[in-house]
Amino acid sequence: MTTSHVILGDGIAGSSAAETIREADPDADVTIITDEGEPLYNRILIKEFAKGTLPEEPVSIHEEEWYEERDIDLELNTRVTSVDTDANVVEAQDGATYEYDKLLVATGGTPTRLPVENSDAEGVHYFWTFKDARAIRDHAAEAETGVIVGAGLLGIDLAAICGAQNVEADYLMRGNRWWRYALSLDGAEIIHEALRQKGVTPVFDSGVERFEVDDDGHVTGAVDANGEFHAGEFAAVAIGLDFNTAFLEDTAVELDDGIVVDEHMRTGVEDIYAAGDLTRYYDVILDERAQNGSWGSAKEQGVVAAENMVADEPVETFRYVSSYSITHFEFPFLSFGHPTIGDDEAERKYSDTEWRRLTFKDGQLIGGVLIGDLSQQQAFKQIIREERPVADQKEKLLEPDVDLDALPAPAVE
Ligand SMILES: Cc1cc2nc3c(=O)[nH]c(=O)nc-3n(C[C@H](O)[C@H](O)[C@H](O)COP(=O)(O)OP(=O)(O)OC[C@H]3O[C@@H](n4cnc5c(N)ncnc54)[C@H](O)[C@@H]3O)c2cc1C
Repeated sequence: MTTSHVILGDGIAGSSAAETIREADPDADVTIITDEGEPLYNRILIKEFAKGTLPEEPVSIHEEEWYEERDIDLELNTRVTSVDTDANVVEAQDGATYEYDKLLVATGGTPTRLPVENSDAEGVHYFWTFKDARAIRDHAAEAETGVIVGAGLLGIDLAAICGAQNVEADYLMRGNRWWRYALSLDGAEIIHEALRQKGVTPVFDSGVERFEVDDDGHVTGAVDANGEFHAGEFAAVAIGLDFNTAFLEDTAVELDDGIVVDEHMRTGVEDIYAAGDLTRYYDVILDERAQNGSWGSAKEQGVVAAENMVADEPVETFRYVSSYSITHFEFPFLSFGHPTIGDDEAERKYSDTEWRRLTFKDGQLIGGVLIGDLSQQQAFKQIIREERPVADQKEKLLEPDVDLDALPAPAVE
């Protein structure tokens, strides 16, 4: 009997799942439903496009022919509005219905709107899609002043876009540094200085009280929490994601700021799986539920979910150490694993542009941030995967070159 696999979302999680299903089961029916108007593209690269440093073409990953050649039905511009988990039917906004034997939810997130006055005014951008990137690129190219909000990994992309497009920008942060959950002031200062060199001014202990607009409703700047006005005819906000799970609210699928899945990407409802940014998955290395917003992790989750969907039993486990790099500056930057949680930490500054911070939980390394020198990233990822008890070996881990043989043996091969 032919199995019908329906995949919601054509991001990297959904698309890699479809590819895996097709390879494993040449006879299966595979359908991908996406509300975007274009097939899979490289979301990581849209920031380079918005900077003006990359044309459209290399950002695209799949043409529509890619799906045709693999006999995968691709439904573009189709927003899913509900799932009937008793009848195994997905319904879209246009009334179309899709029956499934196995369902994969890989609909990712949508940028959280800033809950202040005029946060949806013309000229205030949120950044997730290629469409957003086109609007940001065009607007930044003609703007002279800007305001950036959101001291995290997406906010810094927006700041770098201003830098590349010669927009003189104020970067408003609520705390005293960029990405305060993962960096100490020592590490963050390296980033602050690099931002200043690009014409972006970090403003600390700030945040937006409201945006100001002109008579046409176009943003003119932001008033910060201290009452100061920051001029910006271009504004951009990146304060987090709301996961796209509204269509599951009336079902038994467990939601908890995302979709709860086990280490096999299974929800608690039979035949329904989830993969990518929106999962709250069981991390077998951490031994607790975790979340991860990165390309590599979403891709791997899509593959693991697909293998298990085809096998109809858990044959693959998600056991993965992710990483996320930033390439806007003259020095490289990489975060890996889970750098924002843990019960212990160690850090060292090696030079004006070299710094390292490691985080630990229950005696094990679980994540970190490397600035300037990424040469040890594979060693650190291996230590995490092997669950070595290294929290009392901080000096050795902070050596410029980590000697794996000098550390306690792996707990897991
Ligand atoms: C500007 C930017 C830069 C980034 N840089 C990096 C980086 O350097 N390194 C890194 O590792 N990660 C980076 N990321 C994060 C990375 O892109 C994501 O982690 C990854 O793309 C998540 O993939 P996904 O398939 O889970 O979700 P998504 O890529 O978000 O795909 C979900 C898809 O589902 C669609 N959808 C949503 N709701 C519905 C619905 N109701 N019906 C139908 N379709 C729906 C969405 O429109 C979307 O197309 C970046 C992200 C952005 C936006």
